[in-house]
Amino acid sequence: MKKLLEPITINTMTLKNRMVVSAMVTGFCKADGYATEQFIAYHEAKAKGGWGLIIPEDYVIAPGVGGSRDLPGLFSDEQIASHKQLTDRIHAAGGKIACQIYHAGRRIVRSDNGMQPVAPSALKFAGAPSEIPRELNKQEIEEIVTQFADCARRVKAAGFDAVEIHGAHGYLIHNFVSPFSNKRCDEYGGSIVGRSKFAVDVVKAVRQAVGKEFPVLYRMSVIDGVDGGITIEEAKAMAIRLEEAGADLLHVSQGGDFNYIVSPASSMSKACYIDHAAEIKKVVNIPVIGVGRINDPFLAEEILVSEKADLVTMARASLADPDFPNKVAAEQYTDINYCIGCLQGCTKGCLVNPITGYESVYNLQKTTEPKTVYVAGGGITGCEAAIAAAMKGHHVVLFEQSDKLGGQWLAACVPPGKTDFATLIIWQKRQLQKLGVEVRLQTVLTKELVQAEQPDKIIIATGSKAILPPIEGIHSDHVVLANDVLLGKKDVGKHVVIVGGGSVGAETADHVALHGSKATVVEMLPEIAGDASARPRKLLLERLADKGVILHTATKVTAISQHAVLAEKNGEMFVIPDIDTVVIAAGVRSNNTLQEELQAFADRIVLAGDAKQTKDGYHNMREGFEAGLEI
Ligand code: SF4
Repeated sequence: MKKLLEPITINTMTLKNRMVVSAMVTGFCKADGYATEQFIAYHEAKAKGGWGLIIPEDYVIAPGVGGSRDLPGLFSDEQIASHKQLTDRIHAAGGKIACQIYHAGRRIVRSDNGMQPVAPSALKFAGAPSEIPRELNKQEIEEIVTQFADCARRVKAAGFDAVEIHGAHGYLIHNFVSPFSNKRCDEYGGSIVGRSKFAVDVVKAVRQAVGKEFPVLYRMSVIDGVDGGITIEEAKAMAIRLEEAGADLLHVSQGGDFNYIVSPASSMSKACYIDHAAEIKKVVNIPVIGVGRINDPFLAEEILVSEKADLVTMARASLADPDFPNKVAAEQYTDINYCIGCLQGCTKGCLVNPITGYESVYNLQKTTEPKTVYVAGGGITGCEAAIAAAMKGHHVVLFEQSDKLGGQWLAACVPPGKTDFATLIIWQKRQLQKLGVEVRLQTVLTKELVQAEQPDKIIIATGSKAILPPIEGIHSDHVVLANDVLLGKKDVGKHVVIVGGGSVGAETADHVALHGSKATVVEMLPEIAGDASARPRKLLLERLADKGVILHTATKVTAISQHAVLAEKNGEMFVIPDIDTVVIAAGVRSNNTLQEELQAFADRIVLAGDAKQTKDGYHNMREGFEAGLEI
């Protein structure tokens, strides 16, 4: 691993390696824009973890111009001291930090900020929530340029190592650049020369405010992902102008109104946008950062060796494992906690790493009173509870009734685009081993065992069981459970009807359709995969459409016979004929019979995960971790 660990100098700033954390929204600050301890500790953990450059979430340049409410800000000199505490802590930990500054433009949300969005043209943001923005006049545009410059001056005064102008992701500067959102008929519109004028004016004003030797970075979206948006050729033309205007580095991103391409989901290819960075790099002489689902050190190394970019952004990788660079440097690749691309957390924490963002909240000090902790259930919740309890210094025994750890997560890894989910189980097994947790596979924790061995605490994380809805014919031989199909325990025929179109049912349809079956999904609710995160859901629906999966929403299955399914929609009955297999994906319910069995030990019991109440992976992992931590 040579290139990734190689230093690089940007203007006067030298970074110790090529690994960059780009800005990600946390909500850890308040509307006053001051840095909180939670905000500082979160970034400090990454500085300790060895990242070459850390860029905290977008700082607002004026009151109320953010895309959400609780953002950091440097719109007043009074805020400088608070952010100096942040930069001091990052520097003390050996890190470098750039401040991204922005104006949300037509992505301003009135209910959060009390002001109407503003934009180059009165065209509203396509994502929700939104309202028609007010078109800015020339004087207002010039005032905003001055606000960017004033903010950059404060960035320097607060001790940051660089300033990054946010010209991407559907915010104000990008609104001007993109033909999708700029329909102006003055000097700020028309060709890329006019549409990039505002961006160029901001770069020039910022350069003047911070002087020649302070690094000025520029984040750009080089495609919008919509018809009528900016093209890569126009972005290259703008890149030349930005370099001439004084930018020291281009951070090449993508996306505007539709954020699903800003943070690619697990089903998208690794480094899916890196060719954009390579294109920009062809036309400038300043360093370029590449982005787009880069979560693996060797993938990052390959990008640098191939000279597609000079640095790589690994933002979500830093949430999953703040110590990623140090582990790379020490060649501890198997100890890296990899981002799985689930998009269930990210802005509020990370599914695979409950500590991220909670560094100042959780007490991770070892206990002075070690206890014996028994954990029932070796799914991801039970494993995480065992890891947390062992981290605290307790003696932990983990019981799993099957012959392997992972629980229902083993099935969650199987559908198309979700193979990365397996890395969570691999990481948990490694941690359990390193922490000395005793794992008893094919062993059920029983009352007799508890009576005989008398553990001090028992964490019940026995997960959930599939719901079998009361449908005539459901106990037939050709009716199987979704997880049994995903785990290869049950085969399916040529035409498969999936009963239940939540994310499990929809993903199972995607899986069987990929493997050659015709799939039909029947869902009682009005939408398919309504429980999935927005971006993975959009991609899943596209894949189902591509594979010709038939979707019946607001429809109820009333009976299953050998070769047909009887269904009802809006009071009308209809038949789905020529079926071979029916797959049940009708949801799950808590499986916590152990709690009743262990009534005599009620004061020692902690319930966690689906066994307590069914929920998504993000909340199960956090609950498991907290159960182990709070012993
Ligand atoms: Fe990656 Fe999921 Fe963590 Fe987000 S929540 S950083 S997508 S693992």
